[in-house]
Amino acid sequence: MSSSNASLEALQAMLSFDAGLELLHEPSEIERFSRDAFDYSPVLAERLASCRADLVVRPADVAAVERLAAACAIHGVPLTVRAAGTGNYGQCVPLEGGVVMLTSSLRAIHNIDDKTGVVTVEPGCPMRLLDQSLRQRGRQLRLLPSTWRSATIGGFLSGGSGGIGSIRWGFLRDPGHLLGLELVTLESKPQRITLSAAEAEALNHAYGTNGVMTSLQLATAAAVDWHQVAVDCERWTDAVELLLACGRAAIDLHLASLLERPVLKHMPTWSGPTADRHRLLLLVSPDAIGTVRRLAANRAAVVHDLGPEDLNGGNSLRELTWNHTTLHMRAAAPGWTYLQMLLPQPELAAMASLRQRWGDALLWHLEAVSQQGCVRLAALPLVRWEGMERLEQLMEDCRAVGAFIFNPHVLTVEDGGLGVVDGDQVAAKARFDPAGLLNPGKLRGWLERDGLD
Ligand SMILES: Cc1cc2nc3c(=O)[nH]c(=O)nc-3n(C[C@H](O)[C@H](O)[C@H](O)COP(=O)(O)OP(=O)(O)OC[C@H]3O[C@@H](n4cnc5c(N)ncnc54)[C@H](O)[C@@H]3O)c2cc1C
Repeated sequence: MSSSNASLEALQAMLSFDAGLELLHEPSEIERFSRDAFDYSPVLAERLASCRADLVVRPADVAAVERLAAACAIHGVPLTVRAAGTGNYGQCVPLEGGVVMLTSSLRAIHNIDDKTGVVTVEPGCPMRLLDQSLRQRGRQLRLLPSTWRSATIGGFLSGGSGGIGSIRWGFLRDPGHLLGLELVTLESKPQRITLSAAEAEALNHAYGTNGVMTSLQLATAAAVDWHQVAVDCERWTDAVELLLACGRAAIDLHLASLLERPVLKHMPTWSGPTADRHRLLLLVSPDAIGTVRRLAANRAAVVHDLGPEDLNGGNSLRELTWNHTTLHMRAAAPGWTYLQMLLPQPELAAMASLRQRWGDALLWHLEAVSQQGCVRLAALPLVRWEGMERLEQLMEDCRAVGAFIFNPHVLTVEDGGLGVVDGDQVAAKARFDPAGLLNPGKLRGWLERDGLD
């Protein structure tokens, strides 16, 4: 549905008189705001290289968002929302051009409820600022991506899934995190609609395909001064068992990651003393350090107490985990990419079988998570890029041992997730974006509904 030059010109003429809408036309700005961090995938890098917005627009407030939405609807021009642009799957790349809308002016924290800790916030609020404000009130965000210092809360809600905190709080789409939201519809007379927790789920992790979110209501957790601990193990079996034991112990954990020895070699120095071992990276409450030492002693592991986290600094253990592990590995060895999966149980046998088949073309990076209340191991293994056919074969082999793949080399919400169409997401698009102008091409259920795929 690419928009014609005539509709784009008419749209631009309409917007240029609006003081609440900043228009960015410079080729360098168009280029910058048409990309995200998709280049971790060689598949997406090739697919998305030439996608460009026609115009980038920054609305000053929610009323300006409504005027922009109206203009796009009237002229039939696609609108793709972009926050900090740290997504990995081209979530905010405009496949069909049109307008890219920046959320950076929508950053107000409307309320932090003293009794419940529930926060009401605009989507463009940087998570770092939000977490700082919460901490001043004795609260913290439950879930954060490892990009939390630059990413926004709206981008995380629409494009992310989990991360730091997932060992305790599971994933963003678990009921209880998103408690409601406000959105603007893509119509010639846009509506501003408030959704309950149940209705809001259709916009949770929908890549901004079915509504422009303008306010979010989220649950938070009591703040903890997390302590950084690195634990080194000689044997992989001990390291995996220790990771699971920490996840299952009666301790407060915010993060529990494990890097295989060759991956650790490529990590920056702040992961702890240099060691030729497998390393666990933990964020634990101060009262849990003794228990970690006890569990580690049973496995002849070496514990490094790295002290309290410095949330005001630039880097901490957080920035070595989740997809930051991939970032550091690729900085040192650009020929690597990654996969995402939930490992089957028992985990060790599945990993051993894949190692036998794939050798050192597949290196393990594990994250302990809570999945439907149980401690499970998610893996974001590093994969040596040897072409599409080999990648497909690897995913097949992972599925054959019982792993569930969340494919980071695809464009649609469904294909990167559970693989199935969520009827509620599609119904929400029909209701809030009837002409299908929001981030076109990213919701497979919508394309199939239109018979376009
Ligand atoms: C090194 C690295 C590490 C990462 N680690 C993690 C991790 O631990 N966990 C994780 O889940 N992700 C992770 N990511 C992916 C990404 O950083 C996060 O999901 C992040 O929260 C995205 O936020 P953003 O502000 O950059 O959003 P963007 O990338 O700008 O946008 C993401 C999606 O949200 C939509 N969107 C944004 N605002 C709105 C709005 N107001 N209304 C409707 N739609 C909207 C956009 O259209 C887009 O589809 C990582 C990425 C990198 C590069």
